[in-house]
Amino acid sequence: MMYKIVITCAITGAETTRKDNANLPITPEEIGQAACDAYNAGASILHLHVRDKDGLPTQDLKVFKETMEIVRRKCDIVIEVTTGGAVGMTLEERIQPLQLEPEIASLDCGTINFGDDYILNTLPMIRKVAGIMQDYGIRPTLECFDLSHIDTSLVLIKEGLIKAPFHYGLVLNAPGGVRYDTETLGFLIKRLPENSFWTAIGIGGKASLMAIYGAISFGGFIRVGLEDNVYYSKGVLAESNAQLVERAVRVAKEFGCEIAGPDYVRKTFKLKDY
Ligand code: ZN
Repeated sequence: MMYKIVITCAITGAETTRKDNANLPITPEEIGQAACDAYNAGASILHLHVRDKDGLPTQDLKVFKETMEIVRRKCDIVIEVTTGGAVGMTLEERIQPLQLEPEIASLDCGTINFGDDYILNTLPMIRKVAGIMQDYGIRPTLECFDLSHIDTSLVLIKEGLIKAPFHYGLVLNAPGGVRYDTETLGFLIKRLPENSFWTAIGIGGKASLMAIYGAISFGGFIRVGLEDNVYYSKGVLAESNAQLVERAVRVAKEFGCEIAGPDYVRKTFKLKDY
């Protein structure tokens, strides 16, 4: 199939707050609308976290269900739920939304420091999540914050817990993960299994923008959104998730790339019913 650029929008995340950017969508309605706006701007995957009534990150099944129903009523965007959750959550908490059988879910491929905190993902934990995803027919996005995470994913592939087509989320510049630079991105890509798909995820204003160009240069996919970066440019806050998607679309088109729609994602990643 002809290569098109898949754009994921990570619209809320677990760490970003309204203090960081007042335009952050938090309620199920707000998230639904922001997802729809991102979709209309050119995003074909929604990376979904939800918040409780106090605006704090939650993996509560009911909130996920309500939010996913609103998103699906509004548009045809492919939903990728997080199983990373937030710092300090147990694995049982984190994997709750898998019961809703989303088309894609993120699968963290290793433990990382996260600022002064850490996110724990031991090999048995990763195996467990991968096994559940396989049972439900959910395509994992293999989130790697470090080279060793890619090596860990190879162990799971060898064990038959992850099957092709593989989709990696290469997270660069998270506080504790590998830094963003073009050389590092290129090196990580070289270590992926053959014919893998990958999305470059740059955390913070500069890395997020550079990752758009990195993805285009190396033939990967793009992720933008207020989870990863709250700025549009240095010192200027983004007005919305859609604004960040619009720029990614504009840049990709400048390079002559075509933007993928959800059907392309479903076919390429061999999601359920395809
Ligand atoms: Zn996330």
